[in-house]
Amino acid sequence: MTALKISSLNRRAFFAFAAAGAAGATLSPIEARKALAKEAMKDDKSAAWYRFPLGDAEVTVVSDGVLALGPISGLYPKVPKDEIEAFVKARFQAPDMTVFQENSLVFNTGDKLILFDSGIGGSKAFGPGAGRLQTTLASAGIKPEDVDAIILTHGHIDHLSGIMSADAKRLFPNAQLMMAKTEFDFWTDEAKTSATGVFKMLVDAARANLLPNKDRLEMVENGKEAVKGVQAVFTPGHTPGHTSYVLNAGGKSLLLTGDAVSHTAISFRHPDWAFSFDADPAGAVASRKNLLDMAVADNLPIIGYHFPFPGIGNVAKDGEAFRFVASPMTL
Ligand SMILES: [Zn+2]
Repeated sequence: MTALKISSLNRRAFFAFAAAGAAGATLSPIEARKALAKEAMKDDKSAAWYRFPLGDAEVTVVSDGVLALGPISGLYPKVPKDEIEAFVKARFQAPDMTVFQENSLVFNTGDKLILFDSGIGGSKAFGPGAGRLQTTLASAGIKPEDVDAIILTHGHIDHLSGIMSADAKRLFPNAQLMMAKTEFDFWTDEAKTSATGVFKMLVDAARANLLPNKDRLEMVENGKEAVKGVQAVFTPGHTPGHTSYVLNAGGKSLLLTGDAVSHTAISFRHPDWAFSFDADPAGAVASRKNLLDMAVADNLPIIGYHFPFPGIGNVAKDGEAFRFVASPMTL
């Protein structure tokens, strides 16, 4: 066998090397796989959920699916196109199509069943890949009628459109709705009904899901418990009343960042890069840095709504910036 420099391995060299070591084999690995492919490919999707204990409570991450957000350069328009494209390519992400997950979460405190953010519902504004929350909940054995409260991070279409059905029925018939007053007031302000374009789409979705629940609305306050074991942390900027939450149970904690931290790589390495959906870019940057500093200082594990499923990990300081280290799932 000829000596092969490991650093020079490409596929052609790899197979030549493997074949030299497999003299006498009748089928190459590729031929063997073809011979076994007797069944039609299944182009369906799993109802992804992930359950784990948090102290004496239980958390279930329930996927609403994925959003197709388009080119990365459109999402970070202030960063030079070459720079942002090179950044994501170096992390094996496609620069022409950014995909965000939708990680809703159910927190079972033993006393209350709480849903954080409700997915995009029936809207196909960001492709056909999201809107699967109800299917996922059913697969995870969680009945919508058992949910006591829906707590919102903010009023964007991909976080609140699963509250109401397309025909204006409550999908969680027994749930209170909880969010920051600033956020509720912003999206339900009559003056915004004359909005146009994408902002109109956002306003319409927020009004359709919030206004029918006005009679069951409770406001959350900064630093206070929304319900036992759920502390609200105001993180304005992405939207005016954006709120993150710390879940606490039996001495364990988990920080839900919401969209204060939205991109699994960029938000950490370049927390000062403005995201196009941030209503107040400077405020969003300040909130993002403060929240990540808090996660580091308090050694708080976090979950990102838009991170790769299930979106849980830890934050480390990395020079002036941060680093996200995903936690393995315990299956
Ligand atoms: Zn979002």
